Amino acid sequence: PGKKVLIVYAHQEPKSFNGSLLKIAVEELTKQGCSVTVSDLYAMQFEPRATRNDIVGHLHNSKEFNYGMETWEAYKRGDLSQDLVEEQKKVQEADLLIFQFPLFWFSMPAILKGWMDRVLVQGFAYDLSKSYDCGLLQNKLSLFSFTTGGTKEMYSNGGIGGDIRYVLWPMQHGIMHFCGVKVLEPHICYAPEHVSEEKRKEMLTAWTQRLKTLWKEEPINCSPEWYFK
Ligand code: FAD
Ligand code: ZN
Repeated sequence: PGKKVLIVYAHQEPKSFNGSLLKIAVEELTKQGCSVTVSDLYAMQFEPRATRNDIVGHLHNSKEFNYGMETWEAYKRGDLSQDLVEEQKKVQEADLLIFQFPLFWFSMPAILKGWMDRVLVQGFAYDLSKSYDCGLLQNKLSLFSFTTGGTKEMYSNGGIGGDIRYVLWPMQHGIMHFCGVKVLEPHICYAPEHVSEEKRKEMLTAWTQRLKTLWKEEPINCSPEWYFK
């Protein structure tokens, strides 16, 4: 109770399976006494492109544009665009970040990748020599909750897609761990479009059940071995 949760949600349709997973998380966590904030990226028409527009006012080097350098400098000056300032405030306040999305091309939808690209600015999320266990977003947890088109068999070791953990490496280790955020076990709903209505209900119940004991969970040991052993 009293924990703060930010759910970053990337689906266009509230009636979708992802929409149902979002609704469940908001309801269950609120019931527990958590304060829940949702960034509904499509509804917000969140800008996914990392451009010059993310810096308000003058540039550090107007002769040759360098996005990483300019956003780092703008962060220090307090000159990042308002949409980024707002997302960073939500991240700063959160104890837990939940990412809810459908798997797109073995990765996250572009709008969510754009959120990562633009919000997790140097100086805010990481810095020179402040990465991985020393990243700037310490004492936070993250959880990747996503759906797939492919079945569990396809994403098992020996399956056509390879172990699902391979796709988690860039997201969990390359982004969250890099920024110092601890990682809970992912929550994966396989092929909601291709299973029975009954199976879909079971998957939704399993998510509710998991959320009930979420705060007792230990983070994974987010190291290369977890992904590629
Ligand atoms: P939906 O189609 O919204 O939901 C499935 C069914 O559940 C629907 O019939 C819906 O009505 C029903 N439903 C919703 N709520 C409830 C409820 N409360 N109770 C019961 N039923 C409910 N897949 C891969 O595996 N790998 C990839 O690399 C990949 N790349 C993709 C790239 C793109 C560009 C796209 C568009 C898709 C890709 N996919 C891939 C497939 C994608 O991951 C799936 O289509 C998606 O995960 C399905 O989730 P959804 O929420 O959109 O399902
Ligand atoms: Zn890691």
